[in-house]
Amino acid sequence: MSADASRRWRQSHPEAIREQKRLYYARHSERLSKLRAPGNLLRAHKLRHDTIIALGGVCIKCGFSDERALQIDHVNGGGNAERKVLVNRQAFYHKILDDSTGYQLLCANCNWIKRCENNEYRWKTTSTITED
Ligand SMILES: [Zn+2]
Repeated sequence: MSADASRRWRQSHPEAIREQKRLYYARHSERLSKLRAPGNLLRAHKLRHDTIIALGGVCIKCGFSDERALQIDHVNGGGNAERKVLVNRQAFYHKILDDSTGYQLLCANCNWIKRCENNEYRWKTTSTITED
C-alpha cells in the first residue's frame, strides 16, 4: 500500500486505528509505564539538555536559546535515514555526545527555513507540487 493510500485508509477508518492503539497499549502497558516513570523522564530531559549544551546551546543562525524550540539538525541532511538505523532518541543523543561532527543546533524557524531552501521534506516537495 502506498503512503497516500495508507493515509486515506487511516483517515476513513478512525475506529480501526483507535482499536489498534488500544490493543498496542494493552500488550505493552508494562513497558510503556516504565518508560514514562518520573526518573526515566528526568534522565531523558537531562540527556537532551546535555546534548543541546554540547552543541552550543543556541541556534547557529539567529542565536535563539530557548531549549523548547531548539532542534538538532544534520548539517548535510540524512536525518530520516539515521532515524531508521538508531534504536531510539537516547541512542541519537549519546551518538552526538560521543562525536558532534555533522550536527548543529537550529531553532524551529531556522530549521524549517533550511528544509524549505534545501527541499528536505519527507513528503511532496514544492518542486513537485502542481496547481490544478
Ligand atoms: Zn534560529
